[in-house]
Amino acid sequence: MTTQSPVPEEMDPASVSKLALSAGTTVVGVIGDPVAHSLSPRLHNLAFAHLGLDWVSVGFRVVEGNAPAALVGARALGIKGLSVTMPHKAEVVTHLDRLTEIADRVGAVNCVTNVDGVLTGDNTDGRGLVEALRRGGHFDPEGRRCLVVGAGGAARSVIAALADAGASEVVVVNRTPERAVTAAALAGVVGRVGDPDDVSGSDLVVNATPTGMAAASASPDRWALDPARLGPNQLAVDLVYHPAVTPWLEAARSRGAEVLNGLGMLVHQAALQLETWTGQEPPVDAMWRAIGEFTAE
Ligand code: NAP
Repeated sequence: MTTQSPVPEEMDPASVSKLALSAGTTVVGVIGDPVAHSLSPRLHNLAFAHLGLDWVSVGFRVVEGNAPAALVGARALGIKGLSVTMPHKAEVVTHLDRLTEIADRVGAVNCVTNVDGVLTGDNTDGRGLVEALRRGGHFDPEGRRCLVVGAGGAARSVIAALADAGASEVVVVNRTPERAVTAAALAGVVGRVGDPDDVSGSDLVVNATPTGMAAASASPDRWALDPARLGPNQLAVDLVYHPAVTPWLEAARSRGAEVLNGLGMLVHQAALQLETWTGQEPPVDAMWRAIGEFTAE
């Protein structure tokens, strides 16, 4: 006997997931402000549908200062996991029961997991970038010289993850020198503060500032690092993914560098979160395909 599918075959996986909602559905979400633009619920819902899980992810707009209350609510409601985005990544750190080693070191959390009311904070941003770099044998940081421009939350996670992935050095270049010192320390013995002249000796250059979005025609100091310093045999990454090719990446490409935007980091940090929450292997290929469609809309 064959079982009739309760939904038409032509429905997309996200719609199937919505139809399955019930009192038994496991809920996860994202907290942030603004949050309506967040792609995390869409990525996670697509993955849940692929895995056949009765799970759903929703966005919760939590204004600045309310993250501790949101965590109390998540515990009370049995919300299984939360992605955490701006402006809460640093604030939640002191309101959780446990932290993973990397979340503790970086001082920022982008993923909370609730197991029987015990909330654990993790940081998957930097590891997400490393996974994106490694995808398809593209670029393995092990033994490679890496340079990160920026010392904010994203940069700190990337610096720690590159060192953990075995980079031979992680050089930090930042507008505010004191912040570069603390950020470089996250890479341990392979970390150091550098300057733009260090670009020439780097295999990988990550722009972890928002400045890559500035138009090439803007003022001369529009970019935190001049992409004219880049060249062939170097990989330039801009963590920004909107536009898909920032003016900074375009300029780096015109100098012969290979370029990558931040979409892969977005996909893989979400995949790592899903793996932690569900214990299942994330459908990364499907998530990659979907993110292209989401961002093209
Ligand atoms: P953040 O904490 O505000 O840090 C921003 C960094 O950029 C700081 O180091 C800051 O330098 C530097 N900066 C800002 N404006 C500058 C300028 N005009 N000139 C030189 N340096 C400048 O931000 P964040 O959370 O780390 O995010 C950084 C970027 O990464 C954002 O564009 C964000 O959208 C992107 N991001 C992408 C993903 C992804 O999944 N792809 C994830 C997270 C973040 P100072 O220290 O001197 O202030």
